This record gives sequence, structure tokens and C-alpha cells, in this order.
Amino acid sequence: MPEILIQNARTVLTMDDRRGEFADCDIRIVDGVIAEIGSGLRSDGELVQAAGCVVTPGLVNTHHHLYQTLTRAVPAGQDALLFGWLQTLYPIWARFGPEEMRVSALAGLAELALSGCTLTSDHLYLFPNGARLDDTIAAAQEIGMRFHPTRGAMSIGESLGGLPPDSLVEAEPNILADMVRVVDAFHDPSPGSMVRVGLAPCSPFSVSRELMRDTAILARDKKVMLHTHLAENVEDIAYSEEKFGCRPGQYAEDLGWTGPDVWHAHCVKLDGKEIDLFARSHTGVAHCPCSNCRLGSGIAPVRAMRDAGVKVGLGVDGSASNDSGNLVAEARTAMLLQRVANGADAMSAREALEIATRGGAEVLGRGGECGQIRKGYRADIAVWDVSGIESAGSWDPAALLLAGPTRVKDLFVEGRQIVRDGGLVTIDLPTLVEKQTRLARALAEG
Ligand SMILES: [Zn+2]
Repeated sequence: MPEILIQNARTVLTMDDRRGEFADCDIRIVDGVIAEIGSGLRSDGELVQAAGCVVTPGLVNTHHHLYQTLTRAVPAGQDALLFGWLQTLYPIWARFGPEEMRVSALAGLAELALSGCTLTSDHLYLFPNGARLDDTIAAAQEIGMRFHPTRGAMSIGESLGGLPPDSLVEAEPNILADMVRVVDAFHDPSPGSMVRVGLAPCSPFSVSRELMRDTAILARDKKVMLHTHLAENVEDIAYSEEKFGCRPGQYAEDLGWTGPDVWHAHCVKLDGKEIDLFARSHTGVAHCPCSNCRLGSGIAPVRAMRDAGVKVGLGVDGSASNDSGNLVAEARTAMLLQRVANGADAMSAREALEIATRGGAEVLGRGGECGQIRKGYRADIAVWDVSGIESAGSWDPAALLLAGPTRVKDLFVEGRQIVRDGGLVTIDLPTLVEKQTRLARALAEG
């Protein structure tokens, strides 16, 4: 791969251990890795002008359901609470197949890339009509995004007292067999890996206790990470107390679902003891502020989590509960929401940006190589043009979250440029939008 020199950045926010910030700075990239950071660097490689730009580590998204980009703003789901919202959408999702999975993933990944994201996880927990995790991995490879897909699952359908229709659930032995298949086929543990697979039953209320336990055992055996939804809202807590006789934190701990290889989405209703448990066990949290607002779930205690030492990353969550997938906008919402709960000094723009970059990388087990602009780290870099109207008049790079822009100028993943001058390099966006629109219309018409 040829060398790249990002030149003359107005400011580089490194998010390294000293939170270094450099003015008039260059970054030299060699073989997908950051080789040098400083002023006046020289290179025979490609030059990328960053004058008038703020440069940050690529943003990291720790929770998404990419397939849901085909069901944004569905009328009957717009104002429903979580469980009612799910019951509206399940029958629509049941009509998906491999093409819907691939195209919706492309759309979600394209949207993330344009908002500065270089590494994303995905939580896919339904596989109707021959759809497979493979469909989303193909999409990530096409876009060029570093990808942590998780093989999700639901096994308790309506006839067993669960929420999803029976047509969307799978038998537990088949789930475990496919988890083994996708890990063996796609998981790459090597440094700089572009695909790491995780295991992710949808939530404690959509699979059995046995499947939660067996998945944890399998993940440890295969040395892959575990992910699920936890403590999302008051209904979720009430369900846990009624069905399991304990709070979600206790349930997770009993079944092997705490540890540095586990991250839970939402955690809006974690109490003090559960926050201590997560901090002690190095369990990560995917904070999804827009989704929490959209579904009225509440404000996650992110300030308390961070103060206790819990690893926190950001997630846009599925597009059916956001309904946007703009990660830098998500970081702004995270900052604002902590201020609503705890006052204007509760979270700075820089801290929210830190959560969106190195915080997310740490949650996904990539803290040693992603999420910072640092010599030897992977060249996952976002270049933001702050010379436009959104940030005109700003005095400080914090304007990136306090003002704008909300789209990147350039984006590099593993040293490969996937956004150039605000446009995607790897795919034709108008063609994708047309395909996605056509599929959404077909689903709406039934
Ligand atoms: Zn979710």
C-alpha cells in the first residue's frame, strides 16, 4: 500500500494517553499504520490536504442493527414504547432475506462512514428466509469498514410466552452450530484485523437462561467477545425481577456475562451496585443516547459509570429506533444528555469525543491499536473540514460537537481512504440509495 501524508491539519486531537493536541500537524501513514506525527513531515506518497481541518481518530460504533435501516420511521412504530415497538416491527423484519440484509447493511455502513466512523460492531439477531451474518460481512468488506459483526439470536417465540413471532426464532442447537460456523469462517484475531466476530443472544427476554450460559462458554472457548442488550428501561428491570428473581446485573454475572470480553448495550437502569460490578469486572457498556431518547428509556448514568471506571463506548443503535446513524451527532447527544441530568459541567465536548473514539475501541477490545492517533496505531483517521458555515466563528476544536460539521471530509480505515472530499470512494451512493428505497417500498407494500 502506498504511503499517505495528511498535511497541515489545523488541529490533531490524538486521544492518546496525554490527550495530546497539535496545531499545524502532519500524519504519515505507512502500510495501514500511523508511522509519524509532527510538523513539516516529508513523504513520496500521496498527499492529502488537511488545511482548515480538525483531525480525530476514526469514531467507533459499539452498537447497531444495520438491517433496520430499511425500517426507519415506520408509522406504527414511531411513538411506541420498546415492547410495542418491537411487536410492530417483527412481522416486517420477518419478510427480509439475504438481499435486504446486504443492502441495508451497506446503507447503514455508508451513513456511519460519512459521519466519521471507521470501526463498527453490528448486532444481527434474526435470520429469516436464508439471511446470514455473511451478508453483512460482505457489505462491510465492500465499503472497507473495520467490522465486528455479532451473531445474535432469539429462541423464545410467541408460543413460549416470548415477544417475537415463532417464524423469527431459531432452535437453540442450530443457533450454537451457526455461531461456531461464523466464528470459524470469519473471525480474525490478528493485529489490524478487519473482521472480528462476537456472539450475541438478543436479550435476556428473547432466549433461555441455558442459551445465555452456553453462549458464554462457547465465546470463552473460541476467544471471542460477548454482547447483548441489558437494563434498557423500567420494563426490562421489571421483567428480570419477575422472571429471574434478580436484577439484570446479577443475572449477567450468574451466567458468565461479565468480564473484559463482554459489552452490554444501553444499561440505562444500572444501579450503583451494578456499576461497581461492571467496573470491577471490566465489563463494557454501549451507550446509545438517541435511541434512549427516541424510546423514552431514560438517561443512562454515564457520568457515574465513567467516574467508577466503567468502559463506555457509543452506539447509534438500530436505525429503527434512532432513526439516524450519524455517529458524530450521537456523540453530541451523549454530551447534551449528561448535561440535562447532571449540569453543564457534567460532560465536555472533548470527553464525549473521547468516548466516541478510544472509549469505543476499548469496549470492543481494540484499545491497544485503534481509537487514538498515535505512532504504531492503525491508521483509522477522520478529517473534518471546519472551514464551512457550521463551524464558522468557532474558537476551539470542541466546536466539532458544539457546532459542526456532522460529515467528514476524508476518512481512512487501515490507511485506505474510503471517503474523499465528502464522498464515498468504495461504492456509488446514488445507486445504493435507489436500491435501498426500492426494497423499503416493497416491504411497505407487503
Ligand atoms: Zn439495540
